[in-house]
Amino acid sequence: MLHVREPRTLRKPAGKSKLTISDITADAVRLSAYEGHERIWLGRDNESGLTAIVAIHNTALGPALGGTRVWPHESFEAALTDALRLSRGMTYKSAIAGTAFGGGKAVIIADPKTEKTPSLLSSYADMLAALEGQFFTAEDVGLSLADADFLRTRAPNVVGTGSGSGNPSPVTAHGVFFGIKAALKHRRGTDSLKGIGVAVQGLGSVGWALCEKLHEDGAALTVTDIDTTRIEEAKRAFGATALAPDAILSAEADVFAPCALGGVLSRETIPSLKAEIVAGSANNQLARHEDARLLMEASILYAPDYVINAGGLINVAAELAPGGYDRAAAMARVAQIPKTLSDIFARAERQRRPTNEVTAEIAMERIKAAAAA
Ligand code: NAD
Repeated sequence: MLHVREPRTLRKPAGKSKLTISDITADAVRLSAYEGHERIWLGRDNESGLTAIVAIHNTALGPALGGTRVWPHESFEAALTDALRLSRGMTYKSAIAGTAFGGGKAVIIADPKTEKTPSLLSSYADMLAALEGQFFTAEDVGLSLADADFLRTRAPNVVGTGSGSGNPSPVTAHGVFFGIKAALKHRRGTDSLKGIGVAVQGLGSVGWALCEKLHEDGAALTVTDIDTTRIEEAKRAFGATALAPDAILSAEADVFAPCALGGVLSRETIPSLKAEIVAGSANNQLARHEDARLLMEASILYAPDYVINAGGLINVAAELAPGGYDRAAAMARVAQIPKTLSDIFARAERQRRPTNEVTAEIAMERIKAAAAA
């Protein structure tokens, strides 16, 4: 059973750690991304170089669950905004996926290739342990399965580990793959991927696993990544066409699958899209919630990110189920993603509203009902 504590309380950081954890909720209120967060914690350790933000958005449905992102944001404010937007997205994602969790997310400001040292991760594990009962975490961009395993040795509130449900990325990719098929079915009446052009942005854990499935089903792939070795590998493995990172949005393709970072769909970029479907794993694909209307007006079908990419969340949440992790039960829930999307597409079309607006409405209804209960 989950042990849930009142969100304000904090365990004392362990041992001789130089880690300090402070509540920065009041400082974040001025940011537009703040939007009703319950609590925001900042962990700092000058010795290990840790600067970590844990944002807890809403716990009406349960304790906060969300990944930990390790990324060298250009400023503290950019990292905080990222954490706030991501944790809010997790609240909505959990509500739509029907898991008994609230929304939270962590961001560690560091370059995952050069600064993610064992001492930094140890320090972060101490922060997680101090937040036990109010925040559960797993992999995200920059945090691997090996890192999650390492954190789990020091903090009990880490899921998606080798001894638990494993890396969530393949499960996320599985959900995105079937989500793309649901979008094709809605738009074209057939979900066949034979000869369908898919432009994939980001060849990391999810993007790569997605490419494997798309390639196997006969899709024609156009790919990009900021890591050129990944591109070369994709050319060899999938016969993919390679594009520079800034050219992928305007790729000649039927489907654009953003699988890198957020904010790729904006007033500036949407007019250059050639695809008629946007369906990918990246969180916060829209720079602004309202930009989904531009997609609708351009007759581009948008699969809301937190619906299509919920596979990983569903899988790690299953690890915390009262009876323990049951892979078959988790995958059965992931298999609901295409149906959820189809219902959202149909409702949005009937009501002539952007798909993300309809989705947010459903999520809010569930959160409000839980808060009132
Ligand atoms: P990852 O770190 O393994 O991969 C991200 C990839 O994107 C990397 O290869 C990176 O080089 C590339 N990239 C970064 N900026 C880019 C740019 N501007 N253009 C092209 N490529 C760029 O991360 P991941 O786990 O595969 O996650 C990808 C996205 O999906 C993230 O937004 C993440 O939050 C989201 N997501 C992941 C999961 C999961 O289970 N891993 C679940 C839900 C959502």
